[in-house]
Amino acid sequence: MSHQLNNYIREQVKSFKAYSPGLSIDEIKSRFGLGRVIKMASNENPLGVSPVVQQVLVQNSGLAFRYPGANNPELCRSIADHLGVDSGNIVCGNGSDELIDLLIRMLAVPGRDNIVAFDPCFSIYRLQAGLSGVEFRQARLNHDFSFAWDMLRELVDQNTRVVFLTNPDNPSGYAAPASELQKFASGLPPGCCLVVDEAYIDFAEPRNRYSALSFWQQDSSVAVLRTFSKMHALAGLRLGYAILPAVLADYMRRIRLPFSVNILAEKAGQAALKDNAFTSATLSVITQGRKYLQKELEKLDCRVYPSQANFIMFEPPMEADKVFQELLKRGVIIRPLKSYGFSHLLRVSIGTEEENNILIEYLQDIID
Ligand SMILES: *Cc1c(COP(=O)(O)O)cnc(C)c1O
Repeated sequence: MSHQLNNYIREQVKSFKAYSPGLSIDEIKSRFGLGRVIKMASNENPLGVSPVVQQVLVQNSGLAFRYPGANNPELCRSIADHLGVDSGNIVCGNGSDELIDLLIRMLAVPGRDNIVAFDPCFSIYRLQAGLSGVEFRQARLNHDFSFAWDMLRELVDQNTRVVFLTNPDNPSGYAAPASELQKFASGLPPGCCLVVDEAYIDFAEPRNRYSALSFWQQDSSVAVLRTFSKMHALAGLRLGYAILPAVLADYMRRIRLPFSVNILAEKAGQAALKDNAFTSATLSVITQGRKYLQKELEKLDCRVYPSQANFIMFEPPMEADKVFQELLKRGVIIRPLKSYGFSHLLRVSIGTEEENNILIEYLQDIID
């Protein structure tokens, strides 16, 4: 790179390592000359977009020439009604990714403040903190991937603005009961916000035992992040929301790019919230698939970590990378956890009954 501006790019930008998403279906089709490829790598909903939501998208496609309402008031109201909170506590974003970025930029002063999370954690927390020039501290999870609360608390000081927590956690599927989160939150210094990322909370059984919304209060320093990407099968449309104390919500609405949630995502999100047939179908596919995969993987001598999410982390009885590559050749994409620092572990998203069967059949072949 020889352009003269190269010397003036911010240090945090130069050293930035871009997020690495799972492999795409088209990539693997062309690499191995396959007709069918099954993707079980990114925790997407195996049922695809609900027919009800598809119809709403088609019906509203003619609206795409309009700007969405600034800050999506109707969608915020629908979400608030759905959760039983005030709509002043809801902010929508272009995926929860955008909200993570906004929280960091709203609260943490570069060069002074810090952000705390577990190791491993969802990489967006670290990446966006780094881009903002904010120190990022991590506490190792326990060996079984349960939460090491004391280690996490030790990293918090008076300059800690945010503690990020994913519950149920990614990539392990572990979930801590809400009572533990509440106790941890109550021990944080004032000025430190606990952000609970509940991307997978809909798959936890029973949900209320785990969700931070069970103790969330308007005047607490707790924020909860939710997404339409997993349960509601809208990962490609980009829609997430935060439940926040009203003061934080107010500032966040002011600094957010006004139209980051597009008009079709607004309509689709409202329809998805009411689509009970789809959410119960999804829940049933995920909970049954989770039991099935857990049992079958164990039969294949895999060490399976208990999961409350729509994916399962496991250690195969042979080299994990070999298992990953052999599945790829056969047209099944799963997620190696090498980039998280666990080269012996794999993560697989729960698929349809048929997809789960195919996965197990191939694994029998590969492992035997
Ligand atoms: C999938 C996922 C999300 C969702 O991100 P979106 O930007 O809403 O698609 C958030 N947090 C974690 C930990 C996830 O795994």
